[in-house]
Amino acid sequence: MAEIITIGEILVEIMTKSVGQTFEEIGEYTGPYASGAPAIFIDQTAKTGSSSAIVAKVGNDGFGKLNVERLKRDGVDVQFVGIEQERTTGIAFVTYKENGDRDFIFTTKGSAAAELTPMDIKEEMFKDSKYFHIMGCSFFNDEMIEVFRRAISLAKAQNVLISFDPNIRKEIMEDEKLKALILFALESCDIFLPGENELKWITGIEDEEEAVRSVLSQHASCVIVKKGSRGGRVYEREHHFDIEPYQVEEVDPTGAGDCFAGTFISLLNQGKSIEEAVKYANASGAYAVMKNGPMEGTATLEELKQFMKLNEISAGA
Ligand code: ATP
Repeated sequence: MAEIITIGEILVEIMTKSVGQTFEEIGEYTGPYASGAPAIFIDQTAKTGSSSAIVAKVGNDGFGKLNVERLKRDGVDVQFVGIEQERTTGIAFVTYKENGDRDFIFTTKGSAAAELTPMDIKEEMFKDSKYFHIMGCSFFNDEMIEVFRRAISLAKAQNVLISFDPNIRKEIMEDEKLKALILFALESCDIFLPGENELKWITGIEDEEEAVRSVLSQHASCVIVKKGSRGGRVYEREHHFDIEPYQVEEVDPTGAGDCFAGTFISLLNQGKSIEEAVKYANASGAYAVMKNGPMEGTATLEELKQFMKLNEISAGA
């Protein structure tokens, strides 16, 4: 079985051609692009050389094939990807506003991705695994809540390390069931990878250092607060350090966090230190935003090394 495993939605993304184009008017779109945050994450871990698998469901259609073939090509083990006959592969439509914000329409809840049940999560999936990566965006219905409760418990029972990227919107914390799962994931994880706002929403603490301290006083031993084009900050129990961002032209920010997390966990899995893994993860996030399409910015270690060599000035993470 794979050393790194994740569970969640495999989607395709269809994006508007022009910035400022709304969903309420006729317009041109491009795509389909392979997408789904867990799919991007696992593609990145495989591309950087780790043995990786995803548990997911897609429809029996071209969108599902496009994504699954892509994952396979990049080295992901797709034996746990089920094909649903009655539902189609999930779609995310995205448009970019003039101010850089994004608007999405997701069909995930009515798609094949929503057909995953706790029964699909088997103890042996975690056999030989070292890392289980979970993302809050995959907690999108009651079944998925139970899927993750079961998966977290099975992984922990087999001493698999858990990394948790919340990837949530603020309203999620107002739903009691979802909030309970987010807090369960938080207290179960070894590595926590929030954005600045997610850290505040989840801990209920405004001050970053105080919020991180509250997380580190639970089970986690490493917290990385991601700050987009401003880089981020890495916290361990005894010390913290800043991640200096690369200066790059941002073409499409979707997927940066997933590539960052994928490279980070992949290199930890290969025995690298947190400091070393973060250097590559930072490059991976920057590399991702330079490419159009959520999964188009995944990169091999060789590509990341090349990128880091060409951009040495700000590589001092
Ligand atoms: P998403 O949910 O859109 O995938 P995220 O909010 O989880 O992203 P970000 O903070 O946007 O994650 O990006 C993760 C990391 O990638 C950052 O901490 C940084 O190291 C790098 N990164 C992201 N955007 C840029 C950028 N515009 N320029 C340079 N580096 C970037």
